[in-house]
Amino acid sequence: MAYRRTLASDALALEMPDGTVRQVLFADERAVADALAPGRQILDGIAISWGLLPLGSMFVSKASRSAETWDSGSSSRVSGAAFGFAALGSDVGLYAIHSSSNAEARRSAPFVAKRYERLARALRSFEGSRRHLRDALVVDVLKGEPEACGEDMVRVTCSLHPDPGRGFYLHRHAHHFQCFSCGACGSEVDWLRAKYGLSRQHATSILAG
Ligand SMILES: [Zn+2]
Repeated sequence: MAYRRTLASDALALEMPDGTVRQVLFADERAVADALAPGRQILDGIAISWGLLPLGSMFVSKASRSAETWDSGSSSRVSGAAFGFAALGSDVGLYAIHSSSNAEARRSAPFVAKRYERLARALRSFEGSRRHLRDALVVDVLKGEPEACGEDMVRVTCSLHPDPGRGFYLHRHAHHFQCFSCGACGSEVDWLRAKYGLSRQHATSILAG
């Protein structure tokens, strides 16, 4: 599931898990930039399958086949179950989404709407210094059901140990993390070492590459 830019600077095309494509019209280019944050595409696909407008968007087109709009290339199939949502693929996926249908969807599934918004805002709130590390951290953090925690922090379930609470805090620029449950803390290099068992030299070379 991935967003692709379109000819219009305020619209993106999103491939859905069933292989169809939705055109998403955003309020402005800032909202487009936010939507391109790693992990947002997955969340937005889930939101759309529930009939919700993605954060910062005003309209979502009806589903079309990917060949009708662009070359889809490869895409991964991601289950919404990982985020605590029910499975994707409800009937609502066939229809265009606009502000009034969005309001109706929010009324019928308030828990999903709030959860989506919270996760999407949390993703928007930090930018890693290096894209691939940020991707790894964000994907990791996304699995842990992040909560925005003030302006600069995201609080999440720690993936370095079994964490019943949300003891892991990530700074918005992904330069520094600290887990108040297991005590792990440090820089992005330290996180890579702890998570993947790399040597300092290997972790540093990944960041440099
Ligand atoms: Zn921990």
